[in-house]
Amino acid sequence: MIVKTAVETGLVPTLCRMCDTRCAINVHLQDGILTDITPLDGHPVNRGRICPRGGAAIDLFYHRDRILSPLKRTKDGSFKKIPYDQALDEISARMAALKDQQGAHSLGAWKGEGLGFFQQEGYVRRFIRAFGSPNYFSNDSACYNGRYLGYHLVCGFWNVYPDFDQAKLILLFGSNPPMCHPPFMHEFADARKNGAKLVVIDPRLNPVACYADIFAQPYPGTDGALGWGLINYLIQTKNYDEDLVDRHVIGFDKISAYAARFTPERVEKESGIYADVVEKIAQMIIKNRPDISIFPGAGLEHHENGVNAVRTLAILSCLSGALGRSCGLYRPETLNIHRLALDKEPAPAGPDPIGASKFPVLYDIRRECHTMTAMDHMLGLGDYPLKGLIVSGANPAVTNPNTAKVEKALSMLDLLVVNDFFMTKTARLAHYILPAASFLEREELHLFHKYQRINITRRVATVDGVMEEYRVWRELAWRLGFGEKYFPWKDESDVNQWLLKPNGLNTALLKKHPRGLLYKPLNHNKDIAKNLPTPTGKLEFASPYLKKLGLDEIPVYTAPYHRRHNNPRFPFVLTTGARKSLFYHSRHQNIPRFRNIHRQAEMEINPDDARQLDISDGENVRVVSENGDLIIPVSIKHPSELIKGVVEIYHGWEDWRANYLTFDTVNDPISGFPLLKAVPVRIEKIAGSIQST
Ligand code: SF4
Repeated sequence: MIVKTAVETGLVPTLCRMCDTRCAINVHLQDGILTDITPLDGHPVNRGRICPRGGAAIDLFYHRDRILSPLKRTKDGSFKKIPYDQALDEISARMAALKDQQGAHSLGAWKGEGLGFFQQEGYVRRFIRAFGSPNYFSNDSACYNGRYLGYHLVCGFWNVYPDFDQAKLILLFGSNPPMCHPPFMHEFADARKNGAKLVVIDPRLNPVACYADIFAQPYPGTDGALGWGLINYLIQTKNYDEDLVDRHVIGFDKISAYAARFTPERVEKESGIYADVVEKIAQMIIKNRPDISIFPGAGLEHHENGVNAVRTLAILSCLSGALGRSCGLYRPETLNIHRLALDKEPAPAGPDPIGASKFPVLYDIRRECHTMTAMDHMLGLGDYPLKGLIVSGANPAVTNPNTAKVEKALSMLDLLVVNDFFMTKTARLAHYILPAASFLEREELHLFHKYQRINITRRVATVDGVMEEYRVWRELAWRLGFGEKYFPWKDESDVNQWLLKPNGLNTALLKKHPRGLLYKPLNHNKDIAKNLPTPTGKLEFASPYLKKLGLDEIPVYTAPYHRRHNNPRFPFVLTTGARKSLFYHSRHQNIPRFRNIHRQAEMEINPDDARQLDISDGENVRVVSENGDLIIPVSIKHPSELIKGVVEIYHGWEDWRANYLTFDTVNDPISGFPLLKAVPVRIEKIAGSIQST
């Protein structure tokens, strides 16, 4: 591995991109070798701290299994190294042939989280649209978009991270901040020091729940019922922001009439949370409003009723008076920069984007296609075939639901190109694999809306034979004839200068400020209710837009699949996706020191259930759903860690893929999200040693 570094010996300040939090770090170099990563003081995101994953960026950078040259699959299924130019020539020629023979829409591009952030997304969106296809996919169609849509439909915006430290009461629904977003724990700690109360709603005990004033464990997929119960309590006791409702809300009468059905007793029946606990939570909201932070994690959106559950929480926030408060529903200002995505341009001629007719809200608001429907198109079951796919930093063969179908679909493609660091399960199915650059080898702009700050990351090093993300798309675009028009910049530094042009900033200035630049002073005293970016300009407790599409005008509660079907053949409920402290989705499992801690997958189970099934800790069991099965060792938890009848498997294991069990065809009608967190399963006792699939 031939490495050129920005400095021989010294420190290079940049941002960590081992997860999406983007902590400020210093990369240490000694004699041209990256030796350490330490926190950079003074950045508001991480305030001088990093988590263990951050330091492991160097393990990844120098990892012996890292792909450092383009690879081409041969007839016998093995891969051979080929020169970069040859790879790009062949890939672009095959793309051009697909376009000629089947139309541009027969090719899609898929952005994952493994390599970059918004800018990487911008490149992928720009490329596929310039090619002439509307088929942009991303992992967001199974994580994040559901919450975004839920808030967007009510308020027209979502600020992911409110100022938790300004809250008097924090309610976390299906969220695990110490594992998912460790830096935000300083805000929780400050809030607690200031006397804030904490309520955690989760079927599974997570580390932050240990410190909660109330920890309530609902049946998976029933958070919406609790949301309605709290709304009802506030309305019935007349403890809500009446002025806001009078001036800025449409649909209050409708939600008020519907909420009346959700007495504390009904909520108990639906969710398993005792009626008196529901009342206690409501009273805490009343006592502490309007300084309330309500935060939904991915635990809410991975259900077929996810968006409506999130909408109830957005409504609850507004009723509590938290709209416009920095701890609540606050809308930071953005910075005017050029857009890379071409999605404001007219849609390319030809058939509809994949999934747009089935899940029109997802496409209309997010301008992205539905990855689960894409599998049908690859299998020839859609209204037109998807024959080619470029995947950058994503691993759908692990992270998308219904693994067996995903693998079959990807195997049917005429052209699958994967840009990644390692030979992932998805890369194994590719015709070409391109060696990806890590965040340490790129220069990318980062907006932190919460703080109204902008940062630039630094190119700490370059690796011989590895192209930065932008160059890959540029090289393909030029070969395909649209480079001059859409990818004129020679490298990512040039792109950044162009992006910054509308606001007068420049990359040299940003590099002088490794802690970022405040692009606009924060103003927490704005009356944001006056100018909401919803279609009506009001808070849409009832959505005319959804009604027109034939969807629920108000966020009607639907009992989850496992409670509606109640199939005795599958008496347990599988929830997937709770994070491991050192992994990030399907990433980091090949870091030996991390693997020493998380050695193997396990299915977590309540001890009473384990006793009834006569299974012991560490024993292999077969987990069976309507969709598939998986052999996995058991981990028996403390009774308070997981409610009876619920089992949990981490979603990102390459060798124990929980998604063999999950469904791709039970979807939220608004977001199209799959059912990942409440899958009916049975547990079968088997003999034998640990096996992997
Ligand atoms: S939380 Fe950890 S992995 Fe994520 S950006 Fe910060 S240091 Fe990196």
